[in-house]
Amino acid sequence: MHFRQQFLFPSTPTGEPFVYLAGNSLGLQPIKAREYINQELEDWAKFGVEGHLHARHPWLPYHEFVTESLARIVGARPSEVVAMNSLTVNLHLLMVSFYRPTPKRFRIVIESGAFPSDQYAVASQARFHGFDPKTAIVSLAPRAGESTLRTEDILAFLEREGDSVALLLLGNVNYLTGQAFAMAPITAAAQKQGCVVGWDLAHGAGNLNLQLHDWNVDFAAWCSYKYLNSGPGGIAGIFVHERHGLRSDIPRFAGWWGHSKQTRFQMGPEFEGMSGAEGWQLSNPPIFQLAALRASLELFDAATIPRLREKAIALTGYLEGLLDSIPQRQFEVITPRDPEQRGCQLSLRILGNGRELAAKLTAKGILCDFREPDIIRASPVPLYNSFLDVYRFAEVLRRFGGKA
Ligand SMILES: *Cc1c(COP(=O)(O)O)cnc(C)c1O
Repeated sequence: MHFRQQFLFPSTPTGEPFVYLAGNSLGLQPIKAREYINQELEDWAKFGVEGHLHARHPWLPYHEFVTESLARIVGARPSEVVAMNSLTVNLHLLMVSFYRPTPKRFRIVIESGAFPSDQYAVASQARFHGFDPKTAIVSLAPRAGESTLRTEDILAFLEREGDSVALLLLGNVNYLTGQAFAMAPITAAAQKQGCVVGWDLAHGAGNLNLQLHDWNVDFAAWCSYKYLNSGPGGIAGIFVHERHGLRSDIPRFAGWWGHSKQTRFQMGPEFEGMSGAEGWQLSNPPIFQLAALRASLELFDAATIPRLREKAIALTGYLEGLLDSIPQRQFEVITPRDPEQRGCQLSLRILGNGRELAAKLTAKGILCDFREPDIIRASPVPLYNSFLDVYRFAEVLRRFGGKA
């Protein structure tokens, strides 16, 4: 299958397809998304409420149709993942269960420069439990003069102060710098100190080769409209390790979709949580969003993560080499050079006017994004970007971004 042809590319005003390097922000639309959503619109028209059981893909178990693919994406057992809600909502629901502060151990550790929503979420959780975020939230920062964190510094912090940390919650790929963290050793080191470890996979799911189960991660959450191409506001996903998911004594907020399937429709007053990640569901899920996600996950299943990752390493490496070759460049790549410490994305710190440069790139048919105050992020995505895309981006940058 030629995967690039399975996606719809936005066009420039002159009708040319954009060189689309913004898949880290919003993935492209899979061609099949429209068909799959239309199928549900048709079945809704045809069956009304009976579609829950009689639609071609019945709505009652619809979320289960994406479970195995999601499990493959994050390296989990199917019982450890479920598609539900949106990312920030899920972070809160998971912190209800897994941020259980005590007077001695109440801190939450995040990376400095974490995505703002994550910063707001952890600060509000600390406040909710009666703690002051100023003392309860620790932001791990790079050393002076450096742009990204060193693994050794994270491990040293955990060794030193881990006994006061209730929860370590890092973005496995930082949205701004593109740095990927060493998940396995960091998870193990934090757990050795008695911390619970959660990962925000917003920029990791569909990008890196993840093995959440084997790495013994406690929980994780991700959105699926970035590398997973589920469309704007698409349905998100969670991972709960089975050693937690099989327990019924973990506090959680409950809703009927987390209730045992066998007895859900007896509509009884007592909550009987399902075992596994499904037990964290609250509401019946949005079918149109799941339909769009299905269309994308089928492509991931055909392509497979190890092969995508192999191409991504080559594609991003090619981009890095081209950028290196631009004479007198007016930017600096802040993403780590080690492929193990990054996914698809390269982040460029622009020394001149970044906003203006981003606008010029768009005018030349390149879509990447600008983040205040000075970062341009470009993500060649292995499912639909080509080496020619990368070449064209670098050529435009060579014209504007380096003094010729
Ligand atoms: C994209 C992103 C979000 C977005 O949160 P939503 O709840 O989906 O709006 C949150 N956290 C991180 C790390 C992200 O990259």
